[in-house]
Amino acid sequence: MFANQLIMAKQIVFALTILITLGVFTFTILRLISWFRFTKANFPIRDFGKRFMVMMDVAIGQTKIFRRPVIGFFHALVFWGFCVIIFGSIEMIIDGLFGVERSLKVLGGLHNVIMASGDVFALVVAVSIIIFMVRRLFMHIGRFEGIEMKKKSHQDANIALTMILLLMLTLMGMNAAYVQLQLSAGETIHGIYPVGSLLAPLFAGLSLSGVHIAHEIFWWAHILLIFIFANVLPYSKHFHVFLSVPNTFLTRLEPLGKLTNMDDITREVKLMLDPNATFETPAADAPISRFGVKDVEDVSWKNYFDSLTCTECGRCSSVCPANTTGKLLSPRKIFMDLRARMKEKGPGMVKLGKDFNDNKSLLRDYISEEELWACTTCNACAQECPVNINHPTLILDMRRYLVMEESSAPTGLKTMFSNIENNGAPWQYSSEDRLLWTENLEMKVY
Ligand code: SF4
Ligand code: SF4
Repeated sequence: MFANQLIMAKQIVFALTILITLGVFTFTILRLISWFRFTKANFPIRDFGKRFMVMMDVAIGQTKIFRRPVIGFFHALVFWGFCVIIFGSIEMIIDGLFGVERSLKVLGGLHNVIMASGDVFALVVAVSIIIFMVRRLFMHIGRFEGIEMKKKSHQDANIALTMILLLMLTLMGMNAAYVQLQLSAGETIHGIYPVGSLLAPLFAGLSLSGVHIAHEIFWWAHILLIFIFANVLPYSKHFHVFLSVPNTFLTRLEPLGKLTNMDDITREVKLMLDPNATFETPAADAPISRFGVKDVEDVSWKNYFDSLTCTECGRCSSVCPANTTGKLLSPRKIFMDLRARMKEKGPGMVKLGKDFNDNKSLLRDYISEEELWACTTCNACAQECPVNINHPTLILDMRRYLVMEESSAPTGLKTMFSNIENNGAPWQYSSEDRLLWTENLEMKVY
């Protein structure tokens, strides 16, 4: 009777905990979504088959991560471990809500496989996380540094790693206590727990109720950590745990380096070439759009999605020729700045509309012209990014704003622009004089 009341009390507390977790999580996600509506449209989402293959290759297969084979291997183990362990977490939620134990045992042999791999992966992930922590704290890896990597970025990474480690330790503790509990009570062990069985003797000295309490403590510690972790993620670089898979699915499929034409400019050029060309005329009251990107309301939704997905791993900056030769540009910073700027301006836009002005902008208050013009558009950053973020699209759109709205460009480029305007060529002489250099040559010019 008392045991039944205890189970029911646990169910009620658990249901309330889930409600709070979901409530906070929904609030955070809706807040982020509300900022998306200020961004611009981007490429249409087609080619689902191709997108699926990219996602399987880059996100599930972790192929880009393996370009740094040793540390990439450990990262891939953590990712695959999460994919397996999540089934155990689902089982815990069902157990907690319905007051049962190991509910997925109905799956029979499959349950054994899921539990065994989750149990082993808990140890593998814990070891990998310890390796990551040692690298971060003691090895001073170059790509973890940079002007954009403030104290908060490092704290953020360390907190997330600590939480993952605690998650794995509590999972191992829970499995070990469960194995010992079933052995002490003479009950069947549902599932296979290779690591749990090895650790179970640690609880052998406890009475039956002692093991039961230990199991309950680990169970609650693990599930509460999951709930807290899920709500901390959207505020940290570890949001990529949720977003990296969809972001790879939403990859820009055009070849790297292919520029997207601006519709307004395309129309003007086509009209110059063919005055009879017809186009859909924009409505008279349509707002005049800005050329390029000055602030967060000018970026595409994909740019913003990229910024939320960025893991701050620094792989992009470590291959950037501008960054590695000491220029101010760091492609990682561009996306960290976009995320920070949206966080700053988003609430104001939600309250006062898209025209909200706080006399700041992404350009200059966050990203300088010097950074933008340092980019060689080589696309090494986009090629290397393990979650398929495309940096040059944003950098080029910010340059477009500078050139087309402010006529601001480095002197060398300005000279070239006026030469093109005056001479129809980037050089400082008329196109009619282009072949003067051939005059004294003994060759036939066609
Ligand atoms: S495209 Fe620009 S930002 Fe990216 S690696 Fe090349 S120079 Fe750096
Ligand atoms: S943009 Fe990509 S490569 Fe660069 S730090 Fe972010 S996740 Fe890493």
